[in-house]
Amino acid sequence: MTIATPDIARLAASPDEVLARLFTSMNVDGVYGRTGAYEDVVDGLGRYIGTLRPKGAEVFRFPPVVSRALIEKSGYLKSFPHLLGCVCALGADPKRVTDAVARYEAGGTWADSAEPSELVLAPAACYPIYPIAAKRGAISDTLLFDVASDCFRREPSKDIDRLQSFRMREFVAIGAPVEISVFRDQWMARAPEIAGDLGLNHSIDAASDPFFGREGQMVGRFQVANALKFEMLIPVRSPESATACMSFNCHKDHFGLTWGMNTVDGEPAHTACVAFGVDRLAVALFARHGVEVGGWPKAVRGKLGV
Ligand code: AMP
Ligand code: ZN
Repeated sequence: MTIATPDIARLAASPDEVLARLFTSMNVDGVYGRTGAYEDVVDGLGRYIGTLRPKGAEVFRFPPVVSRALIEKSGYLKSFPHLLGCVCALGADPKRVTDAVARYEAGGTWADSAEPSELVLAPAACYPIYPIAAKRGAISDTLLFDVASDCFRREPSKDIDRLQSFRMREFVAIGAPVEISVFRDQWMARAPEIAGDLGLNHSIDAASDPFFGREGQMVGRFQVANALKFEMLIPVRSPESATACMSFNCHKDHFGLTWGMNTVDGEPAHTACVAFGVDRLAVALFARHGVEVGGWPKAVRGKLGV
């Protein structure tokens, strides 16, 4: 894939500089402490994305954990079992706890005594919204939501743009097929405006989710062939290899059927989500404009309020 803008070669900070200046190691790949300077930009991105919020969108902020049942029912386990993290705990059984702690203190492990709880780590921000919307009954006008959460995906890596723990903000639309498809396409059409506001070079490309296994690869091909997922790619680690910082997803009737969510004409609702990878966008900003926010273009600082 080629990226048209000629000054693409200019990345002001290397991944190592970004890592050293804005993150602090927590001795786990893809899990970092973040500095105040970095968080100011994350906050700025939050404000900026807020200015883009679709009119009438309802805001929800979700915790970093969701019920295991929600994720199982949503089909995530079937599609992405390799990325999912489950919360395990020793629980309140005194014998289990005492044995596990004693084993640890004797130089062994405690974690194998832990049992899976009813919680998993949220793999994306939008999953909880579908059952919430489904409870509201048949949909006449498109429902719009602005959701966010800390997300976890089990993909340990040393790359600064592939985190195990990262923040995601999403605009979600639920309604009739035509409106939902228009919603997704209109957001894709706004990608140049968003990248422009942030002073980032970008391209848009068809994409597929990282489905598990051979069967999953077929689902991925189906996704590409049916133009269900697009990504906004921005150079982060090198000018040549761009990173997906936003995605524009159409789920067709998947969540409508899963949650019994219908439009007023009795048909399964369609859904779409536009996801902002907040940490990837923040890292992209530092890589592109430099580790000192004071040196960033005025227009970009203005948009972010930093
Ligand atoms: P997806 O649901 O895979 O389309 O993810 C939505 C957005 O979250 C992506 O476009 C990325 O910007 C971001 N994202 C996904 N995985 C990661 C990761 N491992 N580290 C950081 N950001 C991620
Ligand atoms: Zn989503």
